Amino acid sequence: MSSSTASVQPGRIRVLKQARGLPIDQKKLTGPVVYWMFRDQRLRDNWALIHAVDQANKSKVPVAIAFNLFDSFLGAKARQLGFMLRGLQKLHHRLLEQSLNIPFFLFQGEAVDTIPVFLKECGASLLVTDFSPLREVRTWKETMIRKVDESVSIHEVDTHNVVPVWVASDKLEYGARTIRRKITKLLPEYLIDFPTLMPSEMKWPAPQPPIDWERIIADVVRRGAEVPEIQWCEPGEDAALEVLMGHKNGFLTTRLRNYSTDRNNPLKPKGLSGLSPYLHFGQIAAQRCALEGQKVRKLFPQAVDTFLEELIVRRELSDNFCFYQPHYDSLQGAWEWARITLMAHASDKREHIYTRQQLEKAQTADPLWNASQLEMVHSGKMHGFMRMYWAKKILEWTTGPEEALATAIALNDKYHIDGRDPNGYVGCMWSICGVHDQGWRERPIFGKIRYMNYAGCKRKFDVDGYIAYVKRLAGESSKRKAENQLKQVAKQTRLADFLPPLPSQ
Ligand SMILES: Cc1cc2nc3c(=O)[nH]c(=O)nc-3n(C[C@H](O)[C@H](O)[C@H](O)COP(=O)(O)OP(=O)(O)OC[C@H]3O[C@@H](n4cnc5c(N)ncnc54)[C@H](O)[C@@H]3O)c2cc1C
Repeated sequence: MSSSTASVQPGRIRVLKQARGLPIDQKKLTGPVVYWMFRDQRLRDNWALIHAVDQANKSKVPVAIAFNLFDSFLGAKARQLGFMLRGLQKLHHRLLEQSLNIPFFLFQGEAVDTIPVFLKECGASLLVTDFSPLREVRTWKETMIRKVDESVSIHEVDTHNVVPVWVASDKLEYGARTIRRKITKLLPEYLIDFPTLMPSEMKWPAPQPPIDWERIIADVVRRGAEVPEIQWCEPGEDAALEVLMGHKNGFLTTRLRNYSTDRNNPLKPKGLSGLSPYLHFGQIAAQRCALEGQKVRKLFPQAVDTFLEELIVRRELSDNFCFYQPHYDSLQGAWEWARITLMAHASDKREHIYTRQQLEKAQTADPLWNASQLEMVHSGKMHGFMRMYWAKKILEWTTGPEEALATAIALNDKYHIDGRDPNGYVGCMWSICGVHDQGWRERPIFGKIRYMNYAGCKRKFDVDGYIAYVKRLAGESSKRKAENQLKQVAKQTRLADFLPPLPSQ
């Protein structure tokens, strides 16, 4: 890590709003800087935070991080919210330990209300925010631009992509082939080491209110109990780095060698990096993963190149799609050839039609599909190869492509720890609507959309072994769930012993 205090590259920053009376080249701020953290929940390797601190120190004003916990965000449940909040709790502890002079404020409610109020209360001059291409987040930012005082500037920093989405391309890209060239050309400029995060030179003037993390997490977990937390994936920045390059089981240190071959074998989940939960919640920077990957390229060139293709090209292609295609999660967002072929086959006869409930409960006639659904429900992470088969079968078993897409997205986002991500929308759009793919031989229901079937899977991997593996996984998870429920009952009973008796009527 370089220790320079170099500013963030201007290409990473978009000025969403310029404060009135403050020319764009005038750097001096009079009030604090607030970083509204949303997608990139980390202290390490975070260009948005680096920019916020840099701007504050240049003007000798204080800087704070603000995070808003929504009452509900795209249906996130205990699984996703618990992981996120436990990661943030660690981030908060680290901030307190490191004496960076950067307080952390947690708000609850709607960000379009809480953040502007906070900016007003603290007299902020600059709001820095990270970048997400999802429409909800963009709508909030548009509201904030209108809502915040004219004396406040707003900067958006793309700290999620190695090459900022608006720099990589100024248009909707057709596929990996077209964006790869553009991204590769820009890597020497953007795939650079991160400077060390500097402490804020000015102390925050007011004491920061304590955060009752345990209560907030317990509340969120209780309300989202329908999809319980997972145990195998420890949240937080340190855990993310451990998964990337830890000595015990790190991806680059111990599991990289066979990535190019094993990543398509659902019986070898450890063949994949396992980084998607951390990348999704921004607990690790893709840029850090890429930098560390490059360091071991000499040892395993093919594996590293395949990993970087997924991590940079495919992942950033998803952001490109969601950024430039407003209909990124509906049939309207498919290429014209795909819409035509899907609609031409929409009323083709289906051998089976299942309701969303039947699919959710893994009640289909296909044991392989049922296993993939159960892997997602119980472990929160279906293997990447199975995700394609899973989504394509939903097209085959629902009344038409619109229903298939809506069902796939709903289930994906409900159960996956890495759900509600541009990769998820694009993954479903690729599988069902042919986005970023080409036309294939025409067949019933699918039209020219690429087809996958059970026999093809059987040729590729040990299907029965995968079904047995998921069966064990589901059994262990159900046992854990039952034990937790028992513990909960015992806790409530113990609590009841201490409660005063109810007044007699
Ligand atoms: C129907 C469907 C749904 C999907 N839903 C999601 C989702 O909700 N969230 C999500 O992050 N990914 C999703 N993916 C993409 C991919 O399957 C996962 O990113 C991958 O399985 C995550 O595991 P990993 O990090 O161990 O993968 P690795 O193979 O180790 O990949 C490393 C990283 O590269 C990126 N990556 C890998 N494959 C792809 C891909 N096909 N497209 C874009 N980026 C990729 C991811 O950021 C991933 O974390 C979906 C794919 C499909 C076909």
